[in-house]
Parts: sequence; structure tokens; C-alpha cells
Amino acid sequence: MTRLPAHDILFTPMQIGPKVAKNRFYQVPHCNGGGYRDPSAVVEMRRTKAEGGWGVIFTEQTEIHPTSEITPFIEQHLWDDRDIPALARMAEAMKSHGALAGIQLAYSGINGPNLYSREVPLAVTGGPILTFTSDPVQARTMDKEDIRDLRRWFRNAFRRSHEAGFDLICLYGAHGFGILQHFLSRATNQRTDEYGGSLENRGRFLREIVDDLREVTKGELAVTLRMSLHEAGAYGFSNAELRDFIAMHAELPDLWDLAQGTWEACSGTSRFKPEGAQEDLVKGIKDLTPKPIVGVGRFTSPDAMVRQIRSGILDFIGAARPSIADPFLPVKVEEGRYEDIRECIGCNICVSGDMTGGISRCTQNTAFMEEWRKGWHPDRARPKGASESVLIVGAGPAGLEAALQAGRRGYRVTLAEASTTLGGRVAKERQLPGLSAWGRVADYRIGQMAVMPNVEIYRDSPLTPEDILAMGVDHVAIATGSRWRRDAVARFHLHPIPTDPAMPIFTPDDLMAGRCPEGLTVAVYDDDHFYMGSVLAELLVTKGNRVQFVTPAAKVAEWTDNTLEQGTIMRRLLEIGVEVHLSKAPESIGKDEVILGCTWTGRQTALPVEAVVLVTSRSPEDGLFHATRALDWQGAGIRSLKVIGDAAAPGPIAWATYAGRAWAESLDQPDRGDALPFRREIAELLPADRITP
Ligand code: ADP
Ligand code: SF4
Repeated sequence: MTRLPAHDILFTPMQIGPKVAKNRFYQVPHCNGGGYRDPSAVVEMRRTKAEGGWGVIFTEQTEIHPTSEITPFIEQHLWDDRDIPALARMAEAMKSHGALAGIQLAYSGINGPNLYSREVPLAVTGGPILTFTSDPVQARTMDKEDIRDLRRWFRNAFRRSHEAGFDLICLYGAHGFGILQHFLSRATNQRTDEYGGSLENRGRFLREIVDDLREVTKGELAVTLRMSLHEAGAYGFSNAELRDFIAMHAELPDLWDLAQGTWEACSGTSRFKPEGAQEDLVKGIKDLTPKPIVGVGRFTSPDAMVRQIRSGILDFIGAARPSIADPFLPVKVEEGRYEDIRECIGCNICVSGDMTGGISRCTQNTAFMEEWRKGWHPDRARPKGASESVLIVGAGPAGLEAALQAGRRGYRVTLAEASTTLGGRVAKERQLPGLSAWGRVADYRIGQMAVMPNVEIYRDSPLTPEDILAMGVDHVAIATGSRWRRDAVARFHLHPIPTDPAMPIFTPDDLMAGRCPEGLTVAVYDDDHFYMGSVLAELLVTKGNRVQFVTPAAKVAEWTDNTLEQGTIMRRLLEIGVEVHLSKAPESIGKDEVILGCTWTGRQTALPVEAVVLVTSRSPEDGLFHATRALDWQGAGIRSLKVIGDAAAPGPIAWATYAGRAWAESLDQPDRGDALPFRREIAELLPADRITP
């Protein structure tokens, strides 16, 4: 395998100020839900990117001072010298294979509610804190003394970053989150002093701290500016103003890092944003500055990357999610192992880890954030143990990942699938509007296993308990998935509701199997709150139905706040003419109407419809597991029999791939009893008599 010569340009080194990046693969800063709470987990996650060949690797946002922090989101802290060792370990890991190590410094201003530090937030112009959660907190407008303080805090952070061993410092001014953007934008900067008004004035603080940075680090570190490409609204820092700013300050940083306006826009899901979506906003900026430019676009195709560079749009290919889904993307391109690339599916489950305060996970890369906690590696597997063979029943995301990982470990793997198509739920969901990229979950695993001599895959093979016992294998995983319920039971209704059998009822499984109402008035009842309800509403509209979307929540698809999609979903539904009924749930389903109850008052209204689609909850398909367990499976020589994935407990696809990996990793491992199944770090206790900070 050799790389295509056209891709060589991705491996030409490039200068960034006083540093040289070995190639054009640039891992832009990204959160991971671990941050300061899980320092070693983050260090090892970044180390795998170094091993995977990235030329530049960044930390997530690093908060420089307690007067600005974004609890409940868990990022990095550089509040005093005691934060240096964890970050020094991170820099060392990033540099372990020749990458440049970068730290992103953030002061959140109007975006930081300080729920943990309890300090009064300081902003360019005071006002209510602008976060996802409408915290009832306001920031105070900084006076001149505050601005001097802020410069000093930045200088302290520059010194600490230098001491920690970083090569690059990124000043965060993108996504509406960083104070540098707050200074630049007339929306958030309404000052009348020399820091407000003209673009020249609004850029003053940025110029000052870039000078400070160069002075404190003696010009040894490179400076990058992460800017929003376009802030919407009459007063927003628009793309036109950004271009004016870059033209005026062409040589200010050593590199321009350009990210689409809001985080929602920058990290759009594949359902709403194609690869390379910010091209129009970034095109032509290179002509305004001699400094290199990095931009993002969920790039996973080397051809698309090369085109960005050859056509003079970008110098570096920025990546957060593609680097999460495949930390070895650069090495695979370099070695021409294109078919080994594990492409990001653009689902934003990784983002949800940060949004929920959990630790991030990735649908595609099951090792993400488990590199240190569990010793998992994105591409390598631990050698197999004493037993030889495994059987996996069901080739959905759980079964496919279980088979792939067990195969990598060296077991003789049999994967049996009842249908003629591999992929389980993703084989069906990939056909739905906007979800085609989800098929990559199956495609990658099927492609990898196709060349593994120790893996046999049988399609069209529904197994019975007796079949399983007759296989003569050491370990069995049942990954038979789940089916959508037909009785409205989920969160709001814990028991079935009265339903007239004359009303046609559909589930997502029906629609995915092609049994879809056409030309009717249809109620979609969504008590799932993730993507399925709105995706099916779109499908129903394309089939000529009039859709009434009913949910007991106060907004549609409310969990998709965590995948940054909620606003876009609501907009889409309204645009395609879906009528939305919030805070309503069906109390009964009649032959030609649904009786809706207001979730607050109980007040009832009748909604005349001709069909109902229930997007509520799923029942595990665990019959095969229980029937097999009832037999003498141990007598048949089977050492372990497990149920995994949706067949154990239905969840998002990422939960299923994780379950497959966890099962394969557990084979032949000693029973650790009640010991914690992952490593963690516990805050160091200070001496009990120490009362000063
Ligand atoms: P998960 O998300 O947990 O991987 P899926 O529902 O995506 O679950 O996939 C389950 C797969 O198991 C489906 O492709 C289904 O056809 C298959 N399956 C179900 N029962 C059997 C069986 N008895 N033998 C073989 N395959 C089965
Ligand atoms: Fe991509 Fe989804 Fe993985 Fe995030 S979780 S990196 S969006 S595949």
C-alpha cells in the first residue's frame, strides 16, 4: 500500500512562527468531558493522537482565571502554578511523536457564570450571562483596572504555558465563547472608551495581549488566534468585518484558526451539515494575510483535504471530530491505508459528553477517553487469552464491534446475522433523511473484518438456542438488538394508554421497513426526545402526510441540546410545515382522533388524525438470550454467555459499540470482583490544618 502522490502535499512541513509543523494535520482544540477532573485520561487521549501522526495537537479550552469559568462544563484550568504539572504532562504526551503541542487559553467573559468560583463575572460590556442554560447571573462591565488585571492574568497564563512546555498558544475568540470575540463584536462590546467603537479600538485588547504573549514567552512560542468566521445578527462580528480585521492585522498572529460562527454552526451534525461546510466563509481570506490558515469542516476524505490546500483556501486541515473518530487518520493517509480510516459519522455524541458533564464517548472510536481509564487503544487490541473461539449473534453496532475487537485480539470469531444485511439498526437508520453517514458504523467494521482470516460472518442465519449450544464455542455474546414499542410506554406514560384498534398505529420499525402512511394527517408522538421523532416527521412530510408533532417536553427533541441540534431541528420542522404541540401527551387514542392532555394542567383537547406514529421507547430483543440461558449451556462447553448492546438495554448507537468493545475486552480477563472497572484520579487532600488557599 502506498499513498497517492496527490496526497503528498498533506505531509509537507510548514512554519508557524518560530515553530515548524511536520505536516498539515492540525487537531484543533476540542472538549472531551474529562478536562481537569480526569487529567491522565485526557493526557493519554492526546498521546494517541501524537502516535496517530497529527502535526499539531491542542488541549481543550483552558480557563486562565477563576473570575471566568464555565461550570458545569469541565475544561482545563490554569489558575495557579499547581495546575502546571497536569498540563506539562499533556504537552509532553502531545510532543511524544514529533507533533507541536498547543494550549488554548480562554477567558469567557459574558459566557462564564462562575457557578463554582462564585466570583463576579467580568465582561467587556456587562449584562446577563450568555450560556446554554440562561443562568440568572449578570456580569459586571470591566473598568480600566479590570482590563489591566486581565492583561496580567493572561501574562501569568502565558508564563505557565511556557513552563508547561507548550509550543503554541491559541487565544480563544471563537464560537461567541471567548472574550477576544466579545471585544471585537459590537453585539458584546458597547464600550465608549478606547476599547470600544471603531474596529481599531475593538481590536486593541487583542493587540495588547499578543504583544504581551511575545514578550513573556520571549518570542519562543507561536501565537494562534481562533476566530469566528461569522457572527450573525445586526451587531455581530460578521464575515465582512472579520476580513477587514484580518486585512488590518495581517501579521498579528503566527496563524489564523478560523471556525464557523457559533459552536452549533461550527460543529454541525452530518444530518444538517456536509463535509467542508464553512468553505464559502473562509475562501479568499488567505489573500489577506501572509500567515497560514487552519479551518475545520469534519474532513475525513484526503481528496477533500488536498483540494482545500491546492485551491488556496487552507494551509492546515483542522479537525476535532475526525481526530476523535480516528486518531490515526494522518498515519493512515501517510501510509496509503485509506480503507482503514474510521470516518466520523457526525453524530455529536462526543459533544454530548461535554454538554452533560459526563466523559465524552465516540460512536466510532470506542477507545476515546478510555485509553487510560481502561487501557484501550483505538486500533490495537490486547492479545487473546487462553480460550479460542467466540460466537456473536446479531450484526448491529454492538455485534459488529464485538466481532471486530475479538477478531483483533486473535479469537476465532463467528458472527451470525438473521437478516441478509449487516448493520442492524444502522442498516435501517442510514436510509432515513439526513442519516446516511451513520452507515459508516457498519461499513468500517465490515471492511476491517473482510480481510481477517479468523472472522467468519454468516448472513441470513437466524440462530436458535439449540444452534448456539451446538456451535462448540468458548464464549457467546447475544447482540440481538431491540424493537420500538407500540403502546406509548416510555417516560411520560409508564403503562399503556387506551387505544382504539381502528386507529392505524406505526412505530419507527414500521416506517424503516417501508410501511409508511402516505397522504394522511399523522400524529407523531415523541417521548424519546432524541433524533428519531423529528427524522420520521421529515420522512412523513416527504410522503405527502400532514404531520402533527406531539411531545410532553417543553421543546422538540430536547436531548439534542446535547448534540447542538435542537434549534436546527425546530427550525427544520417549522420550515417543512410540521405543526408542533409542546407539553402535550396523548391520554387515549380513538378511532379518528388523539385526546391530548396538557402536561401541566391536564386540560384535554382532541386532535383529529388518521394515523399515529409512536416514537417512545424500545424493548430489548432478549428472548434468545433468556432461552439459551435456560438450557445447559455450560454443559455444552460454553464458558460465558452474555447479552450486550440494545438487547441488554436499548440506548444510542455509541452505547452499543461501546458494549461490543467492552465485551471483547473482557474475554479471558480475571474476575476483578467488585473492583472499580476503570482507573480514576482522586483529588489530592491537603493537610487538614492548612486553612489558607
Ligand atoms: P445493537 O444496537 O445492540 O447492535 P441492533 O438492533 O442494531 O442492535 O442489531 C441487532 C441485530 O441482531 C439485527 O441485525 C438482527 O437482525 C439480529 N438478530 C436478532 N435476532 C437474531 C438471531 N436469533 N440470530 C441472528 N441474528 C439475530
Ligand atoms: Fe464523530 Fe460521532 Fe465520534 Fe463525535 S461521536 S467524533 S461526531 S463519530
